[in-house]
Amino acid sequence: MTTTTHTAIGVLIGTAVGNPILGFGLGFISHYLVDIIPHGDMHMRDSNNLVNKKNERQSHVFVIIDVALGITLLNILGTVLSDDVTRSTVYAASIFGSVLPDAMVGVNDLVKSKLGRLHTRFHFHFHDLLCRKHGDSKLRYSLAAQAIFIVGVVYFLS
Ligand SMILES: [Zn+2]
Repeated sequence: MTTTTHTAIGVLIGTAVGNPILGFGLGFISHYLVDIIPHGDMHMRDSNNLVNKKNERQSHVFVIIDVALGITLLNILGTVLSDDVTRSTVYAASIFGSVLPDAMVGVNDLVKSKLGRLHTRFHFHFHDLLCRKHGDSKLRYSLAAQAIFIVGVVYFLS
């Protein structure tokens, strides 16, 4: 899923649990479970789960836009929620837990380590679980569905 979607899920978890440690843990676990849903980004990685050199530029642009949208989402939610998401420990911990697995994969792309490779393999075990059996979805449909979900989260929380 996109970082923006994981951020929205982190906000939902933070709202539901109201505790930073629980929010972080549930956010972290939610990442792997939500990633199981095929979301059209398998072509961005190679068989070693590294950024696919053929789509490297597209992948980097995708991540930059995604992170910018995630920050924009936080700013929007910061204005509509009574407990400002940009200043709340609960939301920060829940969102951090929700996006951390992808950040760890990104760090492993840059700084290779045995632990990083182990986590990357673990992450993509879940990420590709359904895609390996049934194929990936179209990226544009996945992004449309995620956009609808994010708008729904903003509407639900405001
Ligand atoms: Zn992920």
